[in-house]
Amino acid sequence: MDAAEFRKRGKEMVDYIADYLEKIDERQVFPDVEPGYLRPLIADCAPQNPETFEDVFKDIEKIIMPGVTHWHSPYFFAYFPAASSFPALLADMLCGGIGCVGFSWAASPACTELETVMLDWLGKMINLPEEFLAGKDGHGGGVIQGSASEATLISLLAARTKTIRRVQSEKPELTEADIMGRLVAYASDQFCATLGTTPCCSFDKLLELGPICNKENIWMHIDAAYAGSAFICPEFRHLLNGVEFADSFNFNPHKWLLVNFDCSAMWVKKRSDLTGAFKLEPLYLQHHHQESGLVTDYRHWQIPLGRRFRSLKLWFVLRMYGVTGLQEHIRKHVRLSHQFEHLVRQDERFEICAEVILGLVCFRLKGSNELNEALLKSINAAKKIHLVPCHLREKFVLRFAICSRTVESTHIKFAWQHISQLATDLLKTWEQNHHQQKQQ
Ligand SMILES: *Cc1c(COP(=O)(O)O)cnc(C)c1O
Repeated sequence: MDAAEFRKRGKEMVDYIADYLEKIDERQVFPDVEPGYLRPLIADCAPQNPETFEDVFKDIEKIIMPGVTHWHSPYFFAYFPAASSFPALLADMLCGGIGCVGFSWAASPACTELETVMLDWLGKMINLPEEFLAGKDGHGGGVIQGSASEATLISLLAARTKTIRRVQSEKPELTEADIMGRLVAYASDQFCATLGTTPCCSFDKLLELGPICNKENIWMHIDAAYAGSAFICPEFRHLLNGVEFADSFNFNPHKWLLVNFDCSAMWVKKRSDLTGAFKLEPLYLQHHHQESGLVTDYRHWQIPLGRRFRSLKLWFVLRMYGVTGLQEHIRKHVRLSHQFEHLVRQDERFEICAEVILGLVCFRLKGSNELNEALLKSINAAKKIHLVPCHLREKFVLRFAICSRTVESTHIKFAWQHISQLATDLLKTWEQNHHQQKQQ
């Protein structure tokens, strides 16, 4: 493919994506395929001779789309949202076009510097304490990780190194192995200090945890993967109070801030805690400068060496939506979750299982876990909407997460009517079976 054909095909691909997203509600949200569906549809090995773009393109609808779960359908209410927007998609194209691998400042200065500034922008949007911002004095700063799980692992490793060095300076007779064997990581059943847990979007009390961590010299990492985006709205910012006690903080713009996966924003108060743990300087990567607010080598802030130019999509989205546009997006989702909550509360057969704070509603039929498992099964078998469950204190609970950028009140009403009808059908057969069992 030469540049002339790329121009032509690029336009066709943009049209295809725009059509896909514009009419996504016409597709069944969850696919009909069985495991192993794909292999029989494609060749056993890579083609010896080149194929044309048309050959590949026609296989998208034939081979790929039948096996796609449509995360951006307004009938998708599973997991948590996967952010997506047109500005982010365009920025990702540019990222691919530039195609740099920005592991150090010199490897592509714009890749590093835009990321540093975007993380300061984002930090200011959620009113993060200034110590976390690179622009303050160059001690703190932010970095884009691939996922919240990576950010948690990195914090754990950095905390380990920091603690080992501290203990070694106090007790030089101890070896690293001696200390390593005695380290303790404290966590609840949903892991570290979390704002917006995955099962039910509950919030840890940072104002209680934080001072204890600080007093006992314990690294505090806060995971706000989903909920973090909401802190750009002043009415939700109080949920972040206590972040001033943390050593590291993370949330995923790729969940709820309209920036396509992957873009997980992580901040630390002391960049030296990360670089101290991960610094690796073979000769071919040395550029004779110091890490500071101006020159950052992000390879010391992450597990991999290579990294994409991911800040472009943050830059495009933050500029083209503006803070107010993004606040509208968050507020619409929260409004829709309360609409769904209201519908559930009006039906006496159901109960709400956790306080609805942001865009997630946990609910169930009053009754056994088996009954609720059967309800979820019938919902996901009908494939008109898609949900996933969770366990809350041994109870089987259905999670209804507001996900799509384009979801509206009508979709919420439809989803509820559908769930409530399936519940009616289920309860009829359930009671009959129960009655028969009793008679036997
Ligand atoms: C979604 C989620 C994660 C995992 O996020 P990844 O970026 O996919 O690793 C971690 N913690 C919480 C609280 C989440 O909601």
